[in-house]
Amino acid sequence: MRVLITGGSGFIGSHLCERFLDEGHEVIAMDNLITGNTANIAHLAGRSGFQFIRHDVTNYIFVPGKLDAILHFASPASPIDYLELPIQTLKVGALGTHNALGLAKAKGARFLLASTSEVYGDPQVHPQPETYWGHVNPIGPRGVYDEAKRFAEAMTLAYHRSHGVETRIVRIFNTYGARMRLADGRVVPNFIQQALRGEPLTVYGDGQQTRSFQYVSDLVEGIYRLLHSAEVEPVNIGNPNEFTIREFAELVNKVTGNSAGIIVKPDLRITDDPQNRQPDITKAKQVLDWEPQVLLEEGLERTIPWFREQLGLK
Ligand code: UDP
Repeated sequence: MRVLITGGSGFIGSHLCERFLDEGHEVIAMDNLITGNTANIAHLAGRSGFQFIRHDVTNYIFVPGKLDAILHFASPASPIDYLELPIQTLKVGALGTHNALGLAKAKGARFLLASTSEVYGDPQVHPQPETYWGHVNPIGPRGVYDEAKRFAEAMTLAYHRSHGVETRIVRIFNTYGARMRLADGRVVPNFIQQALRGEPLTVYGDGQQTRSFQYVSDLVEGIYRLLHSAEVEPVNIGNPNEFTIREFAELVNKVTGNSAGIIVKPDLRITDDPQNRQPDITKAKQVLDWEPQVLLEEGLERTIPWFREQLGLK
């Protein structure tokens, strides 16, 4: 296959590039580098079948030659990014998805949309199955991401229904691993960096809000299976193992041997922090025969060395 991955130099995009190359496919990574980083794909440069194109997919996308699949992963992806880049976030989910779908239609390529657990907003159903319609504040600070992704899902199914494009939608829950942006403000990079510096971990609010963290290799496997499946409607890919943020902080301190503890702070960055988030993965188990393999503690052990290296610690 010849595969285009938008957002190919981002955290998840770069892991996908690697997986598709390892499977013997040709990969074109496309990114405008506003939150992506070519350091994430530098190790792939020079591998046969790999190329990088710097381009903003909110503008018309031109790719010469055939394409068999398009994986649309371009988007700012952390709450502080949406605050800094609200219009780009809306544009890449809306215009970028439209352009990528248009390209899929023109090339006869299969299209896979990276959607998100954020389509469920601050959920009132727990855990969240794909059939849940969500509880989203359209005008809140997260609304730019949530609504862009909801629009993107609608557009993807419209291209499927009206133009017969073969489409897939993955709803991705919190994912962590090497190559997360150090300064993206999210809980995993924040806590790991604080712990490695011997600082207390900043727990926002009362720390009783929950997240369910999935290691990146599990996500990549789920996406690979979904692309090759026949499932057109959205599929949740996430790890149902749910932790409060306080429990998560304690685990990070344990795994890193940090004795500085935690400090509780109000979250001054962003409102509408979802109280609970946990994927219902019944569908992924049934249609993809997929379930996560990596326990949180094990995934943290694999991730921490990369952060150590980035911080110049041995
Ligand atoms: N959080 C925290 N301390 C931090 C960063 C985040 O307690 O230094 C909390 C945040 O308030 C939220 C959870 O961790 O409840 C996950 O936040 P993140 O920004 O990672 O992404 P989200 O899952 O909200 O999209």
